[in-house]
This record gives sequence, C-alpha cells and structure tokens, in this order.
Amino acid sequence: MQYHIDTGLIYEKFKTDCECPLCEIEKIVQEQFLHEFLNDAVMEDNTRITVGKKGFCDKHFDMLFSRQNKLSVALQVGTRAEKLLPLLSPVKSAGAAKKRATEINNAAKTCTICDLIEESMIKYYKTVAQMFTHEKDFYKLLFSCKGFCLNHYAKLLKYSSSAGFGVKEYLSVLSSAEEKNFKRVQNELKAFCDSHDYRNAYKPLGDAENALPHARIKFYGKKFD
Ligand SMILES: [Zn+2]
Ligand SMILES: [Zn+2]
Repeated sequence: MQYHIDTGLIYEKFKTDCECPLCEIEKIVQEQFLHEFLNDAVMEDNTRITVGKKGFCDKHFDMLFSRQNKLSVALQVGTRAEKLLPLLSPVKSAGAAKKRATEINNAAKTCTICDLIEESMIKYYKTVAQMFTHEKDFYKLLFSCKGFCLNHYAKLLKYSSSAGFGVKEYLSVLSSAEEKNFKRVQNELKAFCDSHDYRNAYKPLGDAENALPHARIKFYGKKFD
C-alpha cells in the first residue's frame, strides 16, 4: 500500500491518551514549518515570493515572534509589507473604496504557514482512511480512541473516500467513536454542573474535573502557543 505520508506519527498519536490525535499531529507539523520559516526557508527565493504574496495570519505571526530568530521574522514581514503597499494607495470614489475594502480584507486572511499546514494535514486525513482499510491493527485504535475535535472530525469525513472499498465500515467506526466521545464530554459537563449542587459537595469530581478543558478541545481543537 502506497500511503500519502509516513504512518509512524499516526500510530504514535492515536495511541496517546488525548481528546484529538489529529490536533497532536498538527502541532508537530506546525512546529516543523515554524522551524523552517525561522531558519533555512527564509533564504529561499520561492519562499520569499510566497511570503510576499500571502504573509502570515496573526496566530502564526505571534508564534514566529515568540521564538528566537527575530531578524528572520522581520525580513519576511518586511517582504509582505512591500507587497501590501499598493493596497494603501489613495482611493478616489465610494465605489473604489468598497472594492478596496474587500481587497484589504481578503489580503488580511491569507497565511503561508496555514496553507502549508493544511496541505500537509490533508495527507494525514487521507492516510488515516487508507490505514483503516489496509492495516489490520488500526481498526482497534480508531475504535478505542477518544474521538476528535469538530474541525478534524469534519476533515476526516471530507477525505473518507481514501478508505476505498472499506469506506462504509470506516465511516461507521469513525462516527461512532466521535459520537460516543462527544457524549462522554457532555456527561462530564453535566457531572461538573451537578458537583456545584451543595448536596454533592463531598462527592469526588472524577473525570468531571476536566470537563471544560475536554470541551475546549472537542469544540475548538487544542490550543498551541
Ligand atoms: Zn483536532
Ligand atoms: Zn496561519
């Protein structure tokens, strides 16, 4: 079986006790790109051209800035600033202003690193589906995992056709893992709320203690700095 990407990291993170193994994978992918943009990539012409065209989103600007190589960040952001300048030329009519507003809003949404991460993650979504059909042990891992954040669950659904002839069974196991674990978090939230009833004051909280951190990941994905 020719996979889109190495399966080692997928096995490792699906075996990890976490609310979304794909968030854990994305964290590693993101770190790799941040590292590249603070080191070798900054010297390459192609990268400079892409950074000029797309720039960085606020999250990735902050992440680059919080790390060591500030000169590299300044060089890249300077390249982007140069490309944005034409959008700031004087506007002469209300119609042109409206058009310019849309152009500025669109320009502010693009991110070189977000796009690279997404390109890479699509290979993981497809490989997870392929592994379900072709790796005999992976079925159990998917079945027993704690589900995914909504974003990554939606992505796995979107690329499920990579499971090929196993797609129906894949979707069945995937959706039952997600539903079961979403309900678990819902129950943890309920237990957490119940624990605030004075009649339950001395009962141990158990898993409910982490109800809100678990809900955070299930709803929005894991937050990385
Ligand atoms: Zn996730
Ligand atoms: Zn970004």
